[in-house]
Amino acid sequence: MNNSDLVKRDLSVLWHPCTQMKDHEWLPMIPIRRAEGIWLEDYDGRRYLDAISSWWVNLFGHANPDINAAVQQQAQTLEHVMLAGFTHEAVVELSERLVQLTPAGLERCFYADNGSAAVEVALKMSFHYWRNKGHTRKTRFITLENSYHGETLGALAVGNVQLYKDTYAPLLMQTISVPSPDCFYRQPGESCAAYSERMFQPMRAALERHAEEVCAVIVEPLVQCAGGMRMYDPVYLKLLRAACDEYGVHLIADEIAVGFGRTGTLFACEQAAVSPDFLCLSKGLTGGYLPLSVVLTGDQVYQAFYDDYGSLKAFLHSHSYTGNALACRAALATLDLFQQRDTLAANRSLAAAMARATADLRDHPQVAEVRQTGMILAIEMIKNKFERIPYPWQERRGLRVYEHGLANGVLLRPLGNVVYFMPPYIIEPEQIALLAEVARQGIDKAVAD
Ligand code: PMP
Repeated sequence: MNNSDLVKRDLSVLWHPCTQMKDHEWLPMIPIRRAEGIWLEDYDGRRYLDAISSWWVNLFGHANPDINAAVQQQAQTLEHVMLAGFTHEAVVELSERLVQLTPAGLERCFYADNGSAAVEVALKMSFHYWRNKGHTRKTRFITLENSYHGETLGALAVGNVQLYKDTYAPLLMQTISVPSPDCFYRQPGESCAAYSERMFQPMRAALERHAEEVCAVIVEPLVQCAGGMRMYDPVYLKLLRAACDEYGVHLIADEIAVGFGRTGTLFACEQAAVSPDFLCLSKGLTGGYLPLSVVLTGDQVYQAFYDDYGSLKAFLHSHSYTGNALACRAALATLDLFQQRDTLAANRSLAAAMARATADLRDHPQVAEVRQTGMILAIEMIKNKFERIPYPWQERRGLRVYEHGLANGVLLRPLGNVVYFMPPYIIEPEQIALLAEVARQGIDKAVAD
């Protein structure tokens, strides 16, 4: 079998995610035969460095021997059992460890099977908590502009990336949208912290105005990933936590993308020393192996649902694969790897290497900014650097970088005009150098005309 054999079969039966399928009339699809470490290999024997961790999920490389062994062993004893009325060792152990590792006050784990589902759980739980407490007027959510929380209708409604959302607008609940603290828009000479702090004003105003009808504020802590890896200062989260307490509104931290070390700390909220009321995790949770997500919350929320059955206060939400045993084992093996390898410390030098390898791009005439938070580094291409005029999305400049990357053995998948690195933590310094070089050439090519 070679690439074109499999692609031909694929194109006659599949419909791919987040894809205009007509593009595949000219844009080759890459069928992957095997993967190991940071490398993906296709059926023609070409290799691609997975610089984006396969949609931000992979942490310790593909075909990781430790995670493989854990999943294999689990498969021989228990692959899955429903989690209502039943439990198993892997899900109990994982919950104990997550409660330990996450910020203080998060003591209960509710599982689902993907990121969007976790967001739905957090939204419903927050609403339902207030209802159980007699606050029936609380039915709305505050969100940040340019945020992304997933594709199911509730998650899409609280997101704010127009490209994904606008088409479905008639189907979506109305949210209260507040300008983002995104430091891309800070004034010349203004620090990111000063800008993020200044941008808290509209959030405070929205809370003040709407607190009575608002269940929760939902944010992606520190990095708005799908919105183009836009970053903001931890001071915003600090102010938000305090204001949510002041106005009696929940804080939902969607760390689905930024959790598990991506921002430099295990969880991004740690950098602001805050605990959310709900913490959503997925993606890196299983090291990129299996779909699993979890919402952590505190005892106060849990107790508001705890009553006689007849009170109808229970959270009657479920997914068939909730707390899947294989996925929980992959998650436990992933947490072991963090400990064994002292990953967060090792990542600090990898992050510094990424910064050095891309430093010269800051002066590139078509690069607006090179920004970084921990292991996430983004390079934003721009049409006019001084007047800050972006390339129109129709020009699909990022796609040119994608094509250049594939032709040179690197999987980059820019978000619009934003080229970014979010590699697995096993990346080596030479691979960072290769990545930076291919990105630089790709950007030069993409902005050439
Ligand atoms: N929240 C955030 C912050 C995300 O980045 C994503 C996925 N990119 C999701 C939620 C949705 O997760 P999933 O794709 O697993 O539904």
